[in-house]
Amino acid sequence: MTTYSHSRLSTYENCPYQYKLKYIDKIKVDVPTTIEAFMGDLVHQTLEKLYKDKKFKKVVSRSTLLKFYKDLWAKEYSDDILVAKSDQGLTSENYRKMGIKFIEDYYNKYKPFDQLIILGLETQDRMTLPDGNQWHVRIDKLACDSEGNYYVCDYKTNARMKDQGEADADRQLALYSIWVKDKFKDAKSVKLVWHMLAFNKEAVSERSDEQLEKLQQDVCDKIKEVESATEFPRNQTGLCNYCVYKEMCPSFKHEIELEKKDIKEFKEDEGLRLVDEYSLIKTKLAELKEKEDEVVGKIIDYAKQFGVDIIYGSNRKCSVKEFEKVVLPEDREKFLGLLKDKGLYEAYSMICYPKINSGIAKGELDEEIKGQCEVVKDFRVSLGRRDRDE
Ligand code: SF4
Repeated sequence: MTTYSHSRLSTYENCPYQYKLKYIDKIKVDVPTTIEAFMGDLVHQTLEKLYKDKKFKKVVSRSTLLKFYKDLWAKEYSDDILVAKSDQGLTSENYRKMGIKFIEDYYNKYKPFDQLIILGLETQDRMTLPDGNQWHVRIDKLACDSEGNYYVCDYKTNARMKDQGEADADRQLALYSIWVKDKFKDAKSVKLVWHMLAFNKEAVSERSDEQLEKLQQDVCDKIKEVESATEFPRNQTGLCNYCVYKEMCPSFKHEIELEKKDIKEFKEDEGLRLVDEYSLIKTKLAELKEKEDEVVGKIIDYAKQFGVDIIYGSNRKCSVKEFEKVVLPEDREKFLGLLKDKGLYEAYSMICYPKINSGIAKGELDEEIKGQCEVVKDFRVSLGRRDRDE
């Protein structure tokens, strides 16, 4: 049995290929620490210290807490931490100050920190899912009140406020509710609390037992899908910019190789030349098609003007025949219904090949139908715009 987590399943949902590299092939890559992750980690450690001291009935002063954060920063910061937004004029000092502001705001809002009874800080555990797999539990702050309400709290340092819809749809903390209900039999309710530190606000959500049961089932279904997957397609999204496997990903490998070349090597790159040539051909074909439409229009005008239906060229002739073209009604459903009612549908409809292809690829058509077809490997080559700012 495997231990799953929200982050593991999210990786599969975002890009199955990335999931394969990370969890199946277990490819290790050097991942630079980003300044966002570094600052977030230090803020977590600082708030952990705040509540650890509180356990011993000691309310740490604001200045002591801030000194703790600043000292930690001075001790642990190194120049290899990645400040990706340096091109926007941001420096590590901006992030250090953001962390100070988050801690100050939190401190001022919750002092003297006795609203809840703290049960655990940075709690880690595993819970068993109905399918026997394990789910990794990691809670920043677990607390309760005297009424038997439990609180699963998560500190967020990102610059985007979580709205109620997102909080109510979140899988990670919601699953921890099941763990809390299992561990603490007196729990009357489990509230999921995101401390959105950049906004000095909380986002709160709660799930019913029925919702949790459905969520658990959805997670087990997703795990089943992951475990039975034989294909791991790539899914290119904006998240690719943060993917640590980008350099080895077939969708970006060539681009990264090109970026490393000098001007001469760049111009001589075979792949680059082939795509440029293909792009030129496609442009010329499009221009020719436009030209073809224009000339055909003029040929029709010529035939009408001079009352001829064959026009002669040097080596070939062109026939121009007028015919009655049927335009189908806009209400397609009604029209198809009429054909079916009259028993004519079979004779006048045809198989939609792209739909059959996609139905088989997605497993929507059963084995009997699939067995009638031969599935062979082929390539589809298509041109797209290259966005160099990505
Ligand atoms: S770069 Fe994008 S497509 Fe490639 S593995 Fe990473 S997330 Fe997937």
